[in-house]
Amino acid sequence: MKKTIALIAHDGKKADMVAFAKDHIEELRNANIIATGTTGSYILQTGLEVELRLSGPMGGDAQIAAMTAEGRIDAIIFFRDPLGKHAHEPDIQMLMRISDLYNVPLATNPATGSLIIEGLSK
Ligand code: PGA
Repeated sequence: MKKTIALIAHDGKKADMVAFAKDHIEELRNANIIATGTTGSYILQTGLEVELRLSGPMGGDAQIAAMTAEGRIDAIIFFRDPLGKHAHEPDIQMLMRISDLYNVPLATNPATGSLIIEGLSK
C-alpha cells in the first residue's frame, strides 16, 4: 500500500527540503505526499504531486498533527531551523508530541530522513 509522508521545512531549510525531495524522487513518487503550504509549493517544482495543507504558521503543522493522530501519516520529515524562532512553536511541539504518542517516525534532518524513506521503501 502507498505510504503517506508529511514534508515540512522552516524557511531556512526549504532549499534543503527541495534537494532532499530531488534526492529521493523515485521513492517519493511512489508515496502520497502531504506538506505545509509553502514547503509544498516548493516541492511541487520538482514535479512531484503534493497535497497541500495550510502554511505552518496558519495551522498547517496542527493539521498534519491531527492526521497523524488519525493514523493517516506513516512518516514525518520535518526540517526545523535550529537557529530560528517561530510564532507557531506550540504547534511544532504538538506535532512532535503526537508523533511520539502514536509512534510515527519523525526526522528532523536529511540524514535521518533518508533512513526513514529507505526503510519505508523496502
Ligand atoms: P510552511 O510551514 O511550509 O507553510 O512555510 C512550515 C512551518 O513553518 O511549519
